[in-house]
Amino acid sequence: MSVSTTSGVAQHKQHRALPTCSKCKKEFDSRIPRGIVVKILLPWLPLKHYVCLRCDITKYKF
Ligand SMILES: [Zn+2]
Repeated sequence: MSVSTTSGVAQHKQHRALPTCSKCKKEFDSRIPRGIVVKILLPWLPLKHYVCLRCDITKYKF
């Protein structure tokens, strides 16, 4: 009976640094599609749209 402690679990997904919510200080959950205003006014900007599901806060970030 050998307990295997191999740490061979591959990191299949590289953790990317997400911006943090200013309210709960946690990382934003995910990228959501950009708003129509940004699409129309700033279509060339590489803005990313994040959302905090806990605080219902959205944030645009380069
Ligand atoms: Zn939050």
